Amino acid sequence: MTFSVALSGPTHQALRDHLDRADGQEDICFALWRPSQGRDRLTAIVSEPVLPGEGDRNVHRNASFEAPYLIRAAEAAAAAGAGLVLLHSHPSGSGWQGMSNDDVNAERGNAARVKAITGKPLLGMTIGTGDGGWSARFWEKTAPRTFERRDCESVRVVGSKLQLNFNPVLRPEPPLREELRRTISAWGQEAQADFARLRIGVVGLGSVGSIVAEALARMGVEHVRLLDFDGVETLNLDRVLNTQRRHAQAGTAKVIAAAEPLTESATAAHFRVDPLELSIVEPEGFRAAIDCDVLFSCVDRPWPRYALNVAAYAHLVPVIDGGIVVSKTRTGKMRGADWRAHVAAPGRRCLECLGQYKPGAVQLEREGRLDDPSYIRQLADNDPVKRNENVFAFSVGCASLELSQLISLVIAPGGIADVGPQLYHLSTGSLDRDGASCESDCLYAGPLLGSGDQAIDPTGVHDVAEQARKRRGSAGPALQPTAAGKWQQFWSRLRRRA
Ligand SMILES: [Zn+2]
Ligand SMILES: [Zn+2]
Repeated sequence: MTFSVALSGPTHQALRDHLDRADGQEDICFALWRPSQGRDRLTAIVSEPVLPGEGDRNVHRNASFEAPYLIRAAEAAAAAGAGLVLLHSHPSGSGWQGMSNDDVNAERGNAARVKAITGKPLLGMTIGTGDGGWSARFWEKTAPRTFERRDCESVRVVGSKLQLNFNPVLRPEPPLREELRRTISAWGQEAQADFARLRIGVVGLGSVGSIVAEALARMGVEHVRLLDFDGVETLNLDRVLNTQRRHAQAGTAKVIAAAEPLTESATAAHFRVDPLELSIVEPEGFRAAIDCDVLFSCVDRPWPRYALNVAAYAHLVPVIDGGIVVSKTRTGKMRGADWRAHVAAPGRRCLECLGQYKPGAVQLEREGRLDDPSYIRQLADNDPVKRNENVFAFSVGCASLELSQLISLVIAPGGIADVGPQLYHLSTGSLDRDGASCESDCLYAGPLLGSGDQAIDPTGVHDVAEQARKRRGSAGPALQPTAAGKWQQFWSRLRRRA
């Protein structure tokens, strides 16, 4: 099990405004954290700063706090079913921050009291005010009155830009590579070091997903995770990159057909690809997805899109989504083709408000209706469930738009990270941009935002995925949690109690 932290842009800004003092002194405060339990990684989603009032803390070079302030903040956390974060600043520090003896004593010394009040481990965080980057660690109870430090591998701030701060011991900078010289000369070694260390998931290995996966491997991303339960069929061969006739004949899993060539084309020194024969709507698939720092949504069904929307807003994993629609005249000639790409993340319009899925259709899919031939037969010919026209060139266009969204989100060329949803019309060659935000009553922009595992669980039993795996004799989600152990058990106990 590894550990990480995620914050929304506004939470980051509120904490930074308090901790980064004009007089250059160190300061301190508390906040709440909620668990987002992935398959291999626990992420603490930090929100709701509890700022000090009069007499709550002393600022005198090394800031300290009074016990009643800690108790008040811990009780607020417990009332919300959350854990407590103790945050402090290192004036003009930059990069991942080390801990002084005073830091260690302040956190370890209060870990027992916080655990007793909130039932969850204390999370410690430090901001270096030089670059505004965070470092973080949990204090895990390993024996009576014994608390051990568990350093996080990264802290991600999901604002209009996606900014990760990596622990240089657990996630060292990748070495300079001749293979990547042209890429690095485009945006520099520092940007590449952050980009390459993102763990990126591709959900759906159809026409767009297969191209996105290849591009990620070429651009030096070190760890790519692929999710798709389906096998390759003959009718995929005109669109899905790296699929061949032999894959269709053998019914090879799409993730396997995609993963093998990726290991050949990857430019990173230490490349890792996880081909998972799972749907994101299966519990194991969803947990594997929220281990990622960014997800590509290359699916066309409502249920997986809904699960991805939950990942984006409840778990703060930005989702790059898109799609292709081909329209025809009444006589069957092509009228046009449109492809779109957008990022679902806090502060941006969600997939439901964008109309990328309808909640009613999610329910139909969960009931198996969208895979029932007699139900499909009675749908209109232009129903999205029936639409499947596509051409490889359109998929390349859509994948390109989605990859450009990733580069804006992470690299922010010209300082612009949010270019808004984009819609390209092939017939006119024009590109539309949309600047709308979520509806006022949107749950994702409201109560579900940053709620982690406390949010609705979008997963369930997925018969279609199980049958597809059974047909090709795949072991499927017999994938045991790779880092089972005390933490896993701890969190499952915790969730059962909640
Ligand atoms: Zn310190
Ligand atoms: Zn919304």
